[in-house]
Amino acid sequence: MSDAPASWSKLTDDLERVLYTREQIQTRVNELGAMIAADYANRSPMVIGILKGAVMFFADLTRAIPASISIDFIATSSYGSNDVTSGVVRILKDLDRPIDDRHVLLVEDIVDSGLTLSYLVRMLRARHPASIRIAALLDKPSRRKTPLQADYIGFSIDDLFVVGYGLDFDQRYRNLPMIGVLKPACYQKLGGEES
Ligand code: 5GP
Repeated sequence: MSDAPASWSKLTDDLERVLYTREQIQTRVNELGAMIAADYANRSPMVIGILKGAVMFFADLTRAIPASISIDFIATSSYGSNDVTSGVVRILKDLDRPIDDRHVLLVEDIVDSGLTLSYLVRMLRARHPASIRIAALLDKPSRRKTPLQADYIGFSIDDLFVVGYGLDFDQRYRNLPMIGVLKPACYQKLGGEES
């Protein structure tokens, strides 16, 4: 058995089009890492990945920050179908360590309605961190239901349902190295819970 998959076509055939290639993502993530390292000079932020969607972005972003950081993860689940967040967020896994007086950088895959992140920010503020900032790989500003602005944004996109690089549909496509728009034929409404 060869180490590398012969082709991604089994998954990419389900894409209507590729929005960002692996290379474009990597370039942008490296730029964000450099910005974050400069902004947090002389501070050691706690970088928190929001599972599961942010896992690829988190892994690449943290390795693009040449500074002293610590990491933790939080897992959330929103009630509602996979493409519509209800705003009711359940914490499936909380942080391992306290964040009081720490500079927190939340790492999210995509900001859509903004409801998940505004809930999380409110919850984490109550733990008295020194500061909270948000890094989001993707932003869909036209879908916002609550005022929420990420501090670091990879790409701003239109109102499209995208998969790949951590983003799923029914838990599939997360391992795609690129980000693409799913073909309508592959897109059915499911009562998915996890993010
Ligand atoms: P929000 O609370 O901002 O509406 O929802 C954010 C979450 O919804 C994201 O973390 C992600 O899990 C999911 N989401 C929103 N838009 C998309 C999308 O285009 N594709 C995928 N796969 N998930 C999305």
